[in-house]
Amino acid sequence: MPGYEELESRIIQTGICTVCGSCISSCPLYYLRMIDGKPKRPKNKAACKNCSVCFDSCYKTSAEIKGQGHGIGHYQRLVAAKWNKTGSFQDGGIVTALLKCAHDMELIDGALLSNGEGWKPVPSVATCAEDLIASAGTKYGVSPVLMNLRPAIVEHELDKLAVVGTPCHIQAVRHLQKIKLDLSPAVAFTIGLFCSGNIAFDGITEHMSRMGVREENVDRMTVSNGKFTIRAGNSNTSIPVSDLKNWGPHHCWFCADHTSELADISIGSEGSPEGWSTVVIRTEKGEDIFSKLESYPEVSTSNIPTNEVEQLKLVSGRKRERARTEIA
Ligand SMILES: Cc1cc2nc3c(=O)[nH]c(=O)nc-3n(C[C@H](O)[C@H](O)[C@H](O)COP(=O)(O)OP(=O)(O)OC[C@H]3O[C@@H](n4cnc5c(N)ncnc54)[C@H](O)[C@@H]3O)c2cc1C
Ligand code: SF4
Ligand code: SF4
Ligand code: SF4
Repeated sequence: MPGYEELESRIIQTGICTVCGSCISSCPLYYLRMIDGKPKRPKNKAACKNCSVCFDSCYKTSAEIKGQGHGIGHYQRLVAAKWNKTGSFQDGGIVTALLKCAHDMELIDGALLSNGEGWKPVPSVATCAEDLIASAGTKYGVSPVLMNLRPAIVEHELDKLAVVGTPCHIQAVRHLQKIKLDLSPAVAFTIGLFCSGNIAFDGITEHMSRMGVREENVDRMTVSNGKFTIRAGNSNTSIPVSDLKNWGPHHCWFCADHTSELADISIGSEGSPEGWSTVVIRTEKGEDIFSKLESYPEVSTSNIPTNEVEQLKLVSGRKRERARTEIA
């Protein structure tokens, strides 16, 4: 029966672990911790039952659940949308608007999100509207969102959770649902972000210090058309993403999913004008929540031109192809 040791040798040490955090939540003994950016069992392993729950809970240990393998995956509807509210949203603020709408309607009682310690992403549990709004904005770097699944259920007593994450997080959630981990029924709804690749937070801080940008002055970081841009006040500093030292965590090179194909709703900026979000509604649940949000007067929607949809499909195809080449 494979246990933590096999998880460590086959997944964590080989560099394919995406640091999603699922294994940490899965351990019924709370025995795994995030140490130096990796899930680890403490040296004193006396309490470990070698029970295989952590191994089985890792989506990288079984055949991955995949999307359609072409285009941007299955979807019911694709629209550009914008929440006409002031806030530190990354794009159109639709992720936060959806969460707020679902919370107001008691469709969720909390959410697993990524807050910031400065610009460093930190996984968080939101239990009220204020928490949802405080998590807005993209913080580049690895965020083990799912390490909070067990604490959200056990400590915060939540059982209708939204999970917001990159495609790897959403794949990990679907795996937990597939193996029927006892915690998985508490996930009510998933919002997947588009992701062409992550950037290691260390690489960002090093770049900021080289450029003389102080972290506390930064207003926004974006990745678009292969360029990483930091906006601080009136100044913009852009460099090609590939010039950032250690920019891409190793595991990102094997990742084929650009648009969170397994989410209920996927959201990104590509395909929409600046300040708007591209919203891919994939499931009945997604349609149900988004149509409720659409009826809010402060939400605007618009069609996405066919050429933008085709471009998004092209970019998604390139990521799939890159992963295929890396794996070969
Ligand atoms: C690592 C990363 C790479 C991305 N790459 C692309 C891309 O290539 N193309 C594209 O179009 N869009 C990309 N996005 C998505 C984009 O940055 C916005 O998140 C998306 O457009 C939603 O905008 P919004 O205004 O609706 O979100 P907001 O309302 O501002 O909400 C943002 C949400 O993102 C979550 N979040 C913040 N940082 C992280 C993190 N590190 N990991 C997981 N969740 C996080 C927060 O919990 C929050 O709920 C990426 C996002 C991340 C985190
Ligand atoms: S007790 Fe089970 S789930 Fe926890 S670390 Fe040990 S093998 Fe993994
Ligand atoms: S469950 Fe997630 S964090 Fe744990 S080893 Fe697997 S990929 Fe890494
Ligand atoms: S590229 Fe893939 S593995 Fe890397 S953060 Fe994005 S979704 Fe996760």
